[in-house]
Amino acid sequence: MRVAFFGAGGKVGSAMVPRLEEAGHEVRGIELGDEPDLDGCDAAVDFTTPEAAPANVRNALEHGVSCVVGTTGWDPSELGALAAEKGLRLFVAPNFSVGAVLMMRFAREAAEHFPRAEIVELHNEAKRDAPSGTARATAELVGGDPAIHSVRLPGLVAHQEVIFGGEGQLLTIRHDTTGRESFADGVLLALERLPELPPGLTVGLETLLS
Ligand code: NAP
Repeated sequence: MRVAFFGAGGKVGSAMVPRLEEAGHEVRGIELGDEPDLDGCDAAVDFTTPEAAPANVRNALEHGVSCVVGTTGWDPSELGALAAEKGLRLFVAPNFSVGAVLMMRFAREAAEHFPRAEIVELHNEAKRDAPSGTARATAELVGGDPAIHSVRLPGLVAHQEVIFGGEGQLLTIRHDTTGRESFADGVLLALERLPELPPGLTVGLETLLS
């Protein structure tokens, strides 16, 4: 596929672009200040900022290009409606790491047995939004409005614990992202499955995993 990549020079972008190229995609990197050239692109990927992503996605959709978005901290529903109107796809996932999606799935299962839970999410100090999109998605799955604690420190990449407390026992489900290349498998899967998705907004990598 010919893929426009918004945020190619960022921390995620610079780890992911080589993985997409190794997988056979032709990647056109677009950085802040570039005039985006979307002509002939089959899909656009966005890992930028919550302020930049809506305009990038709108631009891609206006050019007839479906999108895969990892940027968190913004509401994609309005652009999902635009995508549906145009018969295009907007796929958004708060976490493209398969391990993190499994962590959320296991947390949902544990919540059926443990009504009390709290979430601790830990990210690099450069992460702008808090709580993380993954923590908010986990809270919704677990239910009961669990408290979310956000830690921002140098040395961290992306980590989350869901701690369940019961009478005389604790259960902790934890996932650690140690390298940003871990997000590439999820993005590759989303690109592969994009043409089969219904037009409009699809949210979450779990929708693509059996
Ligand atoms: P980052 O290192 O700050 O990278 C963002 C990049 O986007 C920077 O190179 C920035 O350029 C560029 N940019 C800003 N505005 C742009 C625009 N209008 N057009 C094109 N490029 C633009 O951040 P990151 O750690 O890579 O994370 C990016 C986003 O992905 C964040 O929202 C983060 O929360 C999210 N994320 C999601 C997942 C997931 O699995 N869904 C995983 C990790 C991160 P400048 O440096 O010049 O400003």
